Amino acid sequence: MKKFKVGILGATGMVGQKFVQLLSGHPWFKVTTLMASKRRVGKKYGDEVNWIVSSDVPKDVRDIEMLSMDPKYCDADIVFSALPSDVAKDVEPKFAKEGFVVASNASAYRMEEDVPLIIPEVNPDHLQLIDVQKKNRGWDGFIVTNPNCTTIMLTITLKPLMDLGLKSVRVATMQALSGAGYPGVPSLAIVDNVIPFIKGEEEKVESEPLKILGKLEGGKVKPASLEISASCHRVPVIDGHLEAVWTIFEGNVSIEDVINAFESLKPLDLPTSPKKVIVVRSEIDRPQPRLDRDTGNGMSVVVGRLKKVKENEIRYLVLGHNTVRGAAGASILNAELMIKEGYV
Ligand code: NAP
Repeated sequence: MKKFKVGILGATGMVGQKFVQLLSGHPWFKVTTLMASKRRVGKKYGDEVNWIVSSDVPKDVRDIEMLSMDPKYCDADIVFSALPSDVAKDVEPKFAKEGFVVASNASAYRMEEDVPLIIPEVNPDHLQLIDVQKKNRGWDGFIVTNPNCTTIMLTITLKPLMDLGLKSVRVATMQALSGAGYPGVPSLAIVDNVIPFIKGEEEKVESEPLKILGKLEGGKVKPASLEISASCHRVPVIDGHLEAVWTIFEGNVSIEDVINAFESLKPLDLPTSPKKVIVVRSEIDRPQPRLDRDTGNGMSVVVGRLKKVKENEIRYLVLGHNTVRGAAGASILNAELMIKEGYV
């Protein structure tokens, strides 16, 4: 298979670095273009990046000269966007208009009616919105988004529960520091502390799953009828979001029903797919961020501590790697799906 050329917008940030790391040695992709803010233009990526992910800056990107964020300089088939949302709002449409496939992490376009918000194992059919988007906007390219990091872990577990009559969900999150980008939360604010507020997060966690779990009808997504209430908190963990989830069903549901449902969610046959999408752990004190975030190379979500609270209520914990399954890995999996489905 020929390798697709890929670019990264926001290549020096927390998620941008994770893209660089995950794309190194990827069987389908070759990084050709790296872009960040103006101060980086003309400088070599390896000299310029403040590398904070594990291992070294991959050899094949060290000498890539960083370019101005303009589609005319971009030599790529697909661009991955790891830009702050306000920057993405202006930049991403410019690339889509010029014919690029934009796989975005940013929230700017996630909830637009004609923009797919995709988790490949959950709603691959929503990619059909690409045709609607191109027609509506007259673009040669298009934007496909992945959800907020906290939403992804949660929604992967909710999908198989929909068939059991899921009615409402309450979730309390314990979110890692890397979710705030770099340099992110000051150490004096987070050491010996928990911050019980993350701007905009609860709104995203309460709204994005309804679109993802919704049905595509007549070129639009009809949102799932599900009530979600979220309380989001930043904790002193580097990587890995942990979420306590209370799920309420129409009728009686057993723990075995829920475990069977989790295990029924099958992985896709794509290079970044994990062997198991949801890994269920039976130990009383798992999942834990430090021990479980790298399960399935960071692409599995790990569930544990299942408890029947009432006849129709089950509580569990879910954990996922926020910069892998929740960000760069999510976009890469989306791009792989788009290739498999013939959209690229
Ligand atoms: P970050 O560490 O702050 O990185 C931001 C990147 O954007 C840097 O490369 C920065 O370049 C570039 N940038 C900033 N302002 C720019 C401008 N005006 N013009 C051009 N480039 C600019 O942020 P992050 O955590 O990687 O997050 C990136 C995006 O992914 C955000 O939209 C975020 O909400 C989303 N996201 C993050 C996570 C996570 O776990 N961190 C998860 C899901 C989604 P310089 O280095 O040159 O300033």
